[in-house]
Amino acid sequence: MEILTDSHNRVLNYLRLSLTDRCNLRCFYCVNDSVKFIPHNQILRYEEILRLVRLSVGLGVSKIRITGGEPLLRAGVYDFLNKLSEIEGIKDLSLTTNGIYLKENLDKIIGAGINRLNISLDTLTPERYKITTGKDLFGKVWDSIMAAHDKGINPLKINVVAIRNLNFDELTSFAELTFKYPFHIRFIEYMPMGEDINGNLLTPEIRSRIESVGQLHEVESGSGDGPAERFKFKGAKGEIGFISPISKHFCSNCNRLRLTASGMLRPCLLSDHKINIIKPLRDGLSDDELTKVFLKAASFKQKKHLLDSSPDKIVSKMHSIGG
Ligand code: SAM
Repeated sequence: MEILTDSHNRVLNYLRLSLTDRCNLRCFYCVNDSVKFIPHNQILRYEEILRLVRLSVGLGVSKIRITGGEPLLRAGVYDFLNKLSEIEGIKDLSLTTNGIYLKENLDKIIGAGINRLNISLDTLTPERYKITTGKDLFGKVWDSIMAAHDKGINPLKINVVAIRNLNFDELTSFAELTFKYPFHIRFIEYMPMGEDINGNLLTPEIRSRIESVGQLHEVESGSGDGPAERFKFKGAKGEIGFISPISKHFCSNCNRLRLTASGMLRPCLLSDHKINIIKPLRDGLSDDELTKVFLKAASFKQKKHLLDSSPDKIVSKMHSIGG
C-alpha cells in the first residue's frame, strides 16, 4: 500500500475534514460580516467527501477530525457521520464544535462513533461571550459541556484561543476548572491569518499566568496526542495544554492534511497553498487519478510554516480551512 508521505519524510495519517465554511457565530478574530460564504453547489457533497476519505484511508489515513465552519450546522451531518464511521481503517474519529447544537445531538454524535470532542470556548463570562461571538449563547455552550461531561466523554477538550484583550484575565479561571472537572483546557496561541488583532499572547506568558494558580507538572504525551504540551496541577482532575504554533511551532511532527468544504487539499494550515481536488473529482477522474492528487498535495507540504517570517502572505481565514 502506498502511504501518504511528504517530501520531508513525514507520514500524513491525519485528515482534518471541514464540512462547511459557514458558522452561526461571528467571533471577531475568525468570521466577520464581510465574509462571503461559498455557494452550496461549490461545496463537496457528502458522497464526494466519503469517496475522498476512502481514498485517503487507502493511503494510510487513520485519524479524522470533523471541523468547519461549524460542522453541526450542516444538514444531514449525523447520517454522514454514521457513514463515515463505517469506513474500515478509520481508528480515530473526532469533532471540533462551538457546542451550540451539541447538547441535543450528543446521542447521535456518540452513536456515530465520535470518540473525542473538542469544544471551543474563549470566555466564561456570558456578556463577554456575546461581545466576542455576536451571539448571546454562552448558556447553551456551557450546558453542552456539562451534558457531554455527564455522558462520560473523557477527555473533553476545551479550546481557548488566548487573546490579550479578550481573556487574559480569565486564563486562571479556565485553569481552575481542571480541579472540578476532568476537562483538558487547551490554550491556543492566536494565529494571525490575514489580519493582526493586535492582542496575541504567546505560551510563555500564558503559562506564567496559569502558574499563579499552582505548579504545573508535565504529563507525558502519547504518540497520538498532537501538538499540545500537556500539564496538570497536583490534585487536579483535568489537564492543561498549551498549543504554540507561533512560539514553538510543531511542524516537524505535523502529520496533517486538510480537506476544505470547497474541495481543496491544504497541506499546511498556515499557508495559502491549496490543491484543487473537487474539479478532478467532478470531471470524473478515476480513483487512481484522485489518489495521485492526494500524493501531489502531500508532496507540496512545506517543511515549516512561514507565519513568523511572512505573516502578511496568509489571506485564508480559519473558518474556510477548518481550524
Ligand atoms: N466551529 C467549530 C469551533 O468553534 O470549534 C470549528 C471551527 S473553528 C474555526 C476551530 C477553532 O479555531 C476554534 O477554537 C476557533 O476559536 C479557532 N480559531 C479561529 N481562528 C483562529 C486563529 N486565527 N488562531 C487560532 N485559533 C483560531
